Amino acid sequence: MEKVLVFGCKNTMDDICVGCSRCMVGFNRKAGEFERYKDDEVELIGILGCGGCPGMGTVPRLAQFGLWNSKLEEKPTKVHIAPCVSMHCPHAETIMKKVKAKAGVEVIEGTHPFLPENIFG
Ligand code: SF4
Repeated sequence: MEKVLVFGCKNTMDDICVGCSRCMVGFNRKAGEFERYKDDEVELIGILGCGGCPGMGTVPRLAQFGLWNSKLEEKPTKVHIAPCVSMHCPHAETIMKKVKAKAGVEVIEGTHPFLPENIFG
């Protein structure tokens, strides 16, 4: 069973990408970077924010997530970096380097495929 943690941008999650629904719909449909699980059993166990600019909370928040969920005997087997971080964060390179260094599981850049091509079209 794969257990997925999505890692996103505090400034974007829920406020701009309202409800984080594109990541969740993408996960439920196994679309975009979640397509890799199409033949697997997989659960989404968290959508974790970076903690705010410039991403100093990245490692502490990952550690806190691990501690919190250890009580539930849950831990991620994969971390997906959401496009709000990988494509839009000015600190993305540093943040992704930190996640890859500390997660201890595979880290995948990308989540849902629902990026709009245009706004008014
Ligand atoms: S550090 Fe990057 S991912 Fe985090 S809140 Fe700021 S812009 Fe968003």
